[in-house]
Amino acid sequence: MKCPNCGGSIIQDNENEFHFCPYCGSIIPQQKSSLDKVLDFGRFSKEHKEKVRQQKVKEENENSRSVGIILLVVFAVFALVIIFAVGRPHYARVRELEALVQEIEADILAGNYDAAELKANRIRLEDGYSSEQDQKWDDERAYLLKLIQEKRSQ
Ligand SMILES: [Zn+2]
Repeated sequence: MKCPNCGGSIIQDNENEFHFCPYCGSIIPQQKSSLDKVLDFGRFSKEHKEKVRQQKVKEENENSRSVGIILLVVFAVFALVIIFAVGRPHYARVRELEALVQEIEADILAGNYDAAELKANRIRLEDGYSSEQDQKWDDERAYLLKLIQEKRSQ
């Protein structure tokens, strides 16, 4: 850019609305062509659109994260309800069997072998919880019946 007064070179300063000529001291108003204005506007609207787009992406990410957390919580609660619903009758049954074993042991100590044998034959889990657990109580029954047999023959 040249100074319109003296023809000296002016360093353009786009920050300010005026240029100052270092040779003659003229103050020259910055005149942006209408093309510059259109380009500026284009740049501004492009930046603005990009900002809006980034904001939208950010919000969508946050929303999908919230949905993910909610789904996780719902799933966890659902899983707990299922575990509780399946587990509760099983553990209640296990407590019954444990009480029965204590009764049988008391009967054996008291010499009531008939009563002990009757109760020992009732030791069966078979609640569909797991075949491993079923087997454990089958073994317990077999052990107690054998013990009663031994005590009786003493
Ligand atoms: Zn000048």
